[in-house]
Parts: sequence; structure tokens; C-alpha cells
Amino acid sequence: MDEQDPLRKFKEEFHTQEGTIYMDGNSLGLMSKRAESKLLSLMDSWKVHGIDGWTEGEHPWFTLAEEMSSRIAPLVGAQENEVMVTGSITSNIHQMLSTLFQPTEGRSVILVDELNFPSDIYAVESHIRLRGLDPSAAMRKIGSSDGYTLASEDILEQLTEDVAIVLLPSVLYRSGQLLPIREITAAAHDKGILVGFDLAHSIGAMPHSLHEDGVDFAVWCHYKYMNSGPGGTGGLYIHERHHDLLPGNAGWFGSDKTKQFDMDHEFSKAAGAGAYQIGTPNIFSMAPLLGSIEIFEEADIFRVREKSLLLTELLRKGLAEGVPELMDVTPQADAERGGHIALAHPEAARICKALKDQGVVPDFRAPNMIRLAPVALYTSFSDVEQTVEILQTIMAEELYKNYSNKRNVVA
Ligand SMILES: *Cc1c(COP(=O)(O)O)cnc(C)c1O
Repeated sequence: MDEQDPLRKFKEEFHTQEGTIYMDGNSLGLMSKRAESKLLSLMDSWKVHGIDGWTEGEHPWFTLAEEMSSRIAPLVGAQENEVMVTGSITSNIHQMLSTLFQPTEGRSVILVDELNFPSDIYAVESHIRLRGLDPSAAMRKIGSSDGYTLASEDILEQLTEDVAIVLLPSVLYRSGQLLPIREITAAAHDKGILVGFDLAHSIGAMPHSLHEDGVDFAVWCHYKYMNSGPGGTGGLYIHERHHDLLPGNAGWFGSDKTKQFDMDHEFSKAAGAGAYQIGTPNIFSMAPLLGSIEIFEEADIFRVREKSLLLTELLRKGLAEGVPELMDVTPQADAERGGHIALAHPEAARICKALKDQGVVPDFRAPNMIRLAPVALYTSFSDVEQTVEILQTIMAEELYKNYSNKRNVVA
């Protein structure tokens, strides 16, 4: 499989550590050599140009976010004017909700799910409180019957006429379940509900078709499968049908670029998604993404997804045979899973510690989840095979018992 892999050559593009198999790209992608050199190059433009770096150099800072956004748009299946590289997932949820959440007496609920990442929930709750509403009534959660996945029927059933916005993850961060974005969007629109998706665990792992699917807004980060580095600037998508809306949180970088330096107190908003930027972009937190985008343009996101599915398939088959005591909770069908495999086990925390000591970097999620993400751009099929063998030894020889079953502070 490695010999026939069209993406094989990209592994050399990344800084990998000898003797380590990195299976944590769903939390923080590895550094590519191109990301590193783009960061150095933008630091150099500061060194050489000082203030003039805003308009000079290989990538002038003033239009850097716009330059990158038009190249990120194909990865989420959006028009260029619908995407902006800005903010973080959480700050972009705040921007989208402050712009789009307009509760009325009969329609004031934001629908979320009980498995979502806490930050998304905190953001939603705060918007409900800001409007003087009670979160216990106006934030509704879709429940999960198995604790790992959401059933389509349960989602559809909760799309009722009192819901203003539904915000869901494209891929659930724990189990790796991929939700049917198009179906959910169509069903929600039938009831007059706006639809937002958090693409944290799908961008860079698979293609999307946000515009065609009619999704109203989406948010994501670039530090997971997009390999842009810790705290790398995130992104947002807002369908062009909403572009006449003033940003809920306005700032001068949301201005029409030709008017921004007029310093007028009257806000002239940018025409597209750029309007939802706020302050001065974090240039050095965006720079690595320039290198990363280039790699994705060459690799092709459809081939990335194809390889990712083969990798996770090989991984779960190996685990099912070799380590059946680890419960694989990721949905089986290709169309229902993202880029990682999630394994539940009561000893998960210390199994992860043993894995790390044996040269495999996993990802632990409390209380009992081991996530393994073989990443198409830098994981080989033989890496997957070795990971299975190492896990098998850890379980057969109970090596995990040498560790405590608590997570470290940063886990
Ligand atoms: C990673 C992740 C976040 C992190 O949000 P930041 O604002 O980028 O820190 C939020 N939500 C989900 C679903 C995530 O997976």
C-alpha cells in the first residue's frame, strides 16, 4: 500500500521524529518544512521592511488574510467571497452568533448536542444570556443514546419551529462520527432554521461542499489537520445570502479595504466574509498556513480523504483482530466517519502513557477515550501496522499497569 500511495512523498515535507509515530494530528498537526519557511519569510519581511511590510514583501500583510482565504475556500467548498482566515473557532462562533442570532418570541432556541466540545457550548450559552434569555430554556441539546454518536432521527426530530439556529460539529471530536451535513441543512431550512457547522475535525481531512449544501455559516481552526501550528489563526464561512448583515462585532479590519485608512467613523463594511474580521490579523499565526495551503493544493483534498479512509480502515481492522478489548466506537461506514479512530477502554489514560513511551503519540480524551489519527500527508501504512503491533504488546503484557490512570494536567 505504501508503494502505491500517491501521497507518499509528502511525508518528507514534514518534521517527523526518528522512532516516533505521530497519531495526534487531529489535535495538533505536525510542522511542515514549508510552514516553517513561510513563517521565517514573514518574520524576515518585518526585519527588512518594518512598517512597510503591510504593503511590501512576498506576502504583504494588509491583504494576507484575503490572499489565504481565496485558497482555503476550495477546501470547504465555498466561494472565495464566503471564507475568511481570521480569529479562532470560539471567537468565530461568537462573531457568527452575534451576527446571525436574532431571537424572536416564537423562535429563540439554539440547538446543540450533548457531545460537543465545551468551548462551543460556552459560546452559545453566553449569547443566550447576552440577549436576556435563560440558557436552560433557550439552549437545547440533542441527546446521544450510546454516549458516542448522534442518531439522524434524533437530530431531525429536534429541528422544530422554535429553533433559530442549529450548531453542530461536522465530525464529533470524540467518536469521529461524520454527520450528514447536506441532509441536516435541508431539513433545518425546511423549518426556517439557520445552520452552522464546526469543521474543527473535518477541514484538511476531507472535502466539503458548504455553498452547494446551503450551510449558513461554519467555523474551524487550522492547527489540527491543516498543520498551521499551535494557536494558528482559524477561519469562518458565511453564505453569501447573509453578506448584507453588519457584523455583530465590528472592527476596522472588517472595513472595505479601499476605505479602511480613511479613518472615517462611519463603518464601510467589506463586501464578503471579510466584513466579519475584527482587529489587526495575527500575521505570524497565519504565516505557517501559507506553506500548508501549498501542500494541500499539490496533494489534492480528494486524494487526502481517499488515503485517510484507507488508513483508518487498516487501523481498525488490525485493532479488531489484535486488540479486541479496545472498543472501537467510530461509525463503520466511510460516509459516517472522519479522520480518526476512537477507542474506549477504562484504562485509556494509562494505555496512552504506555503508547507514548513506546514511541506512538496518541490522543487521550477524558474519561476513557484513546483517539488515533493517522494523517494522510505524513502517516504511512506501515506506521499504522506498527501502531497496532505496539498496542497489542501493551495490552498482552499489561505494560499500561506501570503507569497511573490519571491524565496529566495538559492531556
Ligand atoms: C479544537 C476545537 C475547538 C477549539 O477552539 P479554539 O477556539 O480554536 O481554541 C473548539 N471546538 C471544537 C469542536 C474543537 O474540536
